[in-house]
Amino acid sequence: MKPENVVVLGSINVDIGARVNALPRAGETVAGGELSVRLGGKGANQAVAAARAGATVAMRGAVGTESFGLDPVAALEGYGVDMTGVATLAGASGAALITVDAQGENTIVVSPGANGRMAAAGPSCAGALLLAQLELPPELVRDAFRAHKAAGARTVLNAAPAVDPPEDLFALTDILIVNETELARYAGAEPADPADEDEIERAARGLRRPGQTLIVTLGARGALALAEAGRLRVPARPAEARDTTGAGDCFCGALAARLAEGAPLDVALEFAAAAAAISVTRDGAASGMPDRAEIDGALA
Ligand code: ATP
Repeated sequence: MKPENVVVLGSINVDIGARVNALPRAGETVAGGELSVRLGGKGANQAVAAARAGATVAMRGAVGTESFGLDPVAALEGYGVDMTGVATLAGASGAALITVDAQGENTIVVSPGANGRMAAAGPSCAGALLLAQLELPPELVRDAFRAHKAAGARTVLNAAPAVDPPEDLFALTDILIVNETELARYAGAEPADPADEDEIERAARGLRRPGQTLIVTLGARGALALAEAGRLRVPARPAEARDTTGAGDCFCGALAARLAEGAPLDVALEFAAAAAAISVTRDGAASGMPDRAEIDGALA
């Protein structure tokens, strides 16, 4: 077996969804359609995206002994992700309760379950790039980043969702990825007008640490990267968007996979944008992640 080149430290959820005609108001009960029970969580989605994009992925995280009819460990193993570093804790797995109305508007309640009960991130891997998000206890992510950096590994943080990060987490991050909302929150600014890229860039320059690469994803407009060597603006690839859930996760997983192969930043960004553009044409998050041949095909 090849040694892993990407370690994903992150949440593993069971997404429990129902379609409704109209979202229920407080105190209201509405009839919904069939329940769907799917693999979810930013960590799991990004691990799948990286594995499909060609990385050898090992996951660090936790599931519960109760997973609502889905086996998330088997589901991730089915995508080729090494799950031997994932703990099984007594009680419920992380779960997201999702309702989607006829217009595609949704409400989501995330119950952290085992993700929130995780106490340690497991062993660090000197040779691998570490990719994490913020659906696990942030102090645990910080401690793992410290250990991986001490072992000489690169750290990539998708700082989503926006939470109060521990003081030194961003300083331990080699590549920080945020969307526009998260950028505003971390930069302490009002969300910029999406059309005002100068303002977005100003906020990004304020947030970026010396030596760090900061990537701001801009939805259908692509991404902006600020690095020591300068600034890169990567447009999104044209796509017939059908379901943009998980576009950010696809972008992060594919970027990590390509960087772990030793690709330079500009090449990895083009690759990630191509992967994410394919993912928005498909339903579902994990199930919509493109494989390596599809991404290479789009770039050819
Ligand atoms: P989410 O939380 O929905 O997963 P996000 O807010 O983290 O998404 P976005 O900035 O919406 O992330 O999207 C990530 C990347 O996906 C973008 O940088 C872009 O390359 C690609 N992307 C998103 N939407 C589209 C689209 N409609 N067409 C083509 N590419 C897209």
